[in-house]
Amino acid sequence: MTQISLPQQSQAKQAVLDTMKAARDHDVKWREGRVFSLVFNAGDEVSDMLKEAYNLYFSENGLNPTAFPSLKKFETEVVSMVASLLNGDDDVVGNMTTGGTESLLMAVKTARNYARAAKPQIKTPEVILPMTAHPAFEKAAEYFDVKMVHVPVREDYRANVAAMEAAITPNTIMLVGSAPSYPQGVVDPIRDLAQVAVKHNLLLHVDACVGGMMLPFVRKLGFTIPDFDFAIPGVTSISCDLHKYGYAAKGASVILYRNSALRRHMFFSYINWAGGVYVSPTMTGTRPGGPIAAAWAIMNFLGEEGYLKLADVVMRTARKIREGIASMTDARVLSNPDMSVLAIASDKWDVYQIGDELTARGWHLDRQQFPPSLHMTIVPAHALVADQFLIDLKESIAAVKRPSVRKVTNKVVVSTANGLMKMLPDKWASRLTAKSSSLLGASGEGLPQRSAAMYGLIGTLPNRGDLNELVIDLLDQLTQMPKSDASAGRKSSG
Ligand SMILES: *Cc1c(COP(=O)(O)O)cnc(C)c1O
Repeated sequence: MTQISLPQQSQAKQAVLDTMKAARDHDVKWREGRVFSLVFNAGDEVSDMLKEAYNLYFSENGLNPTAFPSLKKFETEVVSMVASLLNGDDDVVGNMTTGGTESLLMAVKTARNYARAAKPQIKTPEVILPMTAHPAFEKAAEYFDVKMVHVPVREDYRANVAAMEAAITPNTIMLVGSAPSYPQGVVDPIRDLAQVAVKHNLLLHVDACVGGMMLPFVRKLGFTIPDFDFAIPGVTSISCDLHKYGYAAKGASVILYRNSALRRHMFFSYINWAGGVYVSPTMTGTRPGGPIAAAWAIMNFLGEEGYLKLADVVMRTARKIREGIASMTDARVLSNPDMSVLAIASDKWDVYQIGDELTARGWHLDRQQFPPSLHMTIVPAHALVADQFLIDLKESIAAVKRPSVRKVTNKVVVSTANGLMKMLPDKWASRLTAKSSSLLGASGEGLPQRSAAMYGLIGTLPNRGDLNELVIDLLDQLTQMPKSDASAGRKSSG
């Protein structure tokens, strides 16, 4: 076995494309509205527009704004449109990034550097955030050596402001709230957080990655949306993804700051390079023109009118799904989500098993923890499948309630679970299998055969340190180089 080598001869364009098309066979069926995360599909008209705009700027590089004034125009106009949607005044400034994670990385790096200048006595900066905040904050903590202090949320899954205030120390530099949080879709009490931030002279970042391009339109449609943006004086930065409810091409988000004095701490410059003076606003060097151009295009194409129409479709679908779930006694939506992101839980049954049954029926819902739940981000593509989803959810619950469910009833589920087992490093797989057999009562069928067992198990591992190692091993395993048999030439192994 060796690494895969570059094919010796050129291949026909059609052959290459055919291979790629076939490779999609086992991907989640997002076009049919079967997945409730990852893809924000607003229909063919929107994606055609995106592709054309993206292709127009396929080769341009946003790294140097003086070389491509076109991209500079698009970026500044996109940022300005987002700032105005989020009630920013003339002082608000920002930049485009490649996604929510990069926007949050930048918010934390900026806060750290701002604190270095404004509060030099702080040697180990801390950021206080609700435990529902996105993991990108933790990533930023690891990258930039800032400590994240996670605070439990209230019973309604919104940030517990009193507890967050109590967590403030002389090292605190910033507070964080989400609008809304990804796991349960609720907007944190940003106004109260802002009061605390102002009182203690702290920065306040609002993570509106998923909500920034949705909440303003939902509010315009007449729904009650709590204040969350620059309308609140204590808010100092906001992240807002365009590649979510902005329906832009992937690789597009915005990071906004209250004023340019704060934003300066985001910028990087190096003046001693042999290649010349180098400045860069965000994490990346080369910045593809496509996502910037496509974001500008879609915002102008849709306009407020288009976004309102899409938000209306999404909110109607979300309402239908919520009402459908409310009518089922064995499942419920956690808390009272503010828009179209929600979590399904069950007080009586194993919700991961319900998720497996949904998987068997062709749906893809991410599994969440604390508490166990299934994630739904509702997008326009779900309007046509909401009724079928509710029927399948009902059937899935009924299936889980049947006493025979612990036996393996469905080939798809078995192969899913076995696939998962295959991805696990050997020592972990055997450890988990041993553990789950004792947990579920050995049925003599070679447990675990259902992924519910896996997830349930992961939730109950006594030592979460083990789990950390396990998922890192898993990622390592998943991104192993595909090996090919040298004698067989170039061939990807399955
Ligand atoms: C999606 C999301 C992020 C991260 O965005 P990416 O584009 O996936 O990097 C951060 N915060 C929230 C609330 C999100 O929903």
